[in-house]
Amino acid sequence: MSSVVVILVLALLGVAVVHAVWWFRCRRLVAEFARRSDEQRVREDRLREDYERDRSGREAVMDCMLDGVVVLDGEGRVRTFNRAVVRLFQVGGDLRGLTLLEALRRHELAEFAERARAEGQALDLELEQHGRSAVTLQVNAVSFLDGTGGGKGVILVFHDVSRLKDLERTRRDFVANVSHELRTPLSLIKGYVETLIDGASSDPEVSGKFLRTIEKHANRLAFLIEDLLAISQLESGQALMNRCNGELRPLVGRVVEDLATKAEARGMRLLNEVPAELRLRVDPDRLQQVLFNLVDNGIKYGRAGGTVRVGGRVDPDAGRVEVWVSDEGQGIPAEALERVFERFYRVDAARSREQGGTGLGLAIVKHIVQAHGGEVRAESEVGRGTTFRVLLPWETSDAG
Ligand code: ADP
Repeated sequence: MSSVVVILVLALLGVAVVHAVWWFRCRRLVAEFARRSDEQRVREDRLREDYERDRSGREAVMDCMLDGVVVLDGEGRVRTFNRAVVRLFQVGGDLRGLTLLEALRRHELAEFAERARAEGQALDLELEQHGRSAVTLQVNAVSFLDGTGGGKGVILVFHDVSRLKDLERTRRDFVANVSHELRTPLSLIKGYVETLIDGASSDPEVSGKFLRTIEKHANRLAFLIEDLLAISQLESGQALMNRCNGELRPLVGRVVEDLATKAEARGMRLLNEVPAELRLRVDPDRLQQVLFNLVDNGIKYGRAGGTVRVGGRVDPDAGRVEVWVSDEGQGIPAEALERVFERFYRVDAARSREQGGTGLGLAIVKHIVQAHGGEVRAESEVGRGTTFRVLLPWETSDAG
């Protein structure tokens, strides 16, 4: 009996030991499992943080971009977009989840994105967008394999090329204008020379008249080329202004002297009303060119028999000096007052050409004045006359 009890006790003890070992093992396993899942959680948290950081970094980069970006997922819905898209298309709210047509409301754009997805190659498109102001957009689209949906996504990039387009248009207009301005006097010269060769030279009266006309058009060509060189130098920003202190009155005196014969031919008076003590700091040759162009215009477009006045004054409180040239001519209509400073803009093209004008004089004036940090304005009363006012920066030391 007692041996049976002993065996039972030993068996129970054995079971208890096995359980104890098993329990310890389980605890170790549970602890190990808990440790590993903690580590896993930490790793996942870190990955999530990294992803969030990357995402906000990517969004910040996208939002800093001047170009608009839209990413479409495999189902053709907006996954991401940046602020530039909102600005360029003037759309509001969250565009995510919308189709491109719903988001940007442009049929041609939706078709273009579909084409880029179907063809699987980079495509480009030019798009006019009329919002608060009209802009020309260069749109590039490229497809990519969308990992999440399995289908093909599309990335669209919108680049505002309005300024480039404007420059291109200006350049084209300029070349067309220059060609026209060169061709007109050249064909006239050619015509007169041919007539002289064909026999007109035998008549001294006729040939004298023709030669004077040829000289007039040759002069016009020479002025045009001179003005073209001046404007290209000024517009390239390479023109240096050699400023020095000096008196304005003698400078105006030289212009009046140079143009006296031209004024006399129209029975006009040129008056230098600049105060003797007025001193300023400018590039004297350039300012002389400005005044020459303005007085020359006063003679060309002023009233025959009338007066062209040049005046000046210092306004120390405003820190500027004002120089003006006024005439008593037909004047300039209000809508043309700003435009006369554009290259080749003329109110009366026939009159300008007849007078040997190049259409560049006031553009040159504007550039020189701006290079001095000043501005030039035209004021006019139609039928009574015009005043061109040049405003230049002035400091007390300029009077020294
Ligand atoms: P242009 O060689 O034709 O004179 P400008 O650039 O000097 O070229 O002037 C541009 C245009 O502005 C002229 O063609 C003329 O129509 C107008 N204009 C300039 N000055 C005057 C003025 N004093 N009075 C009236 N119109 C003027």
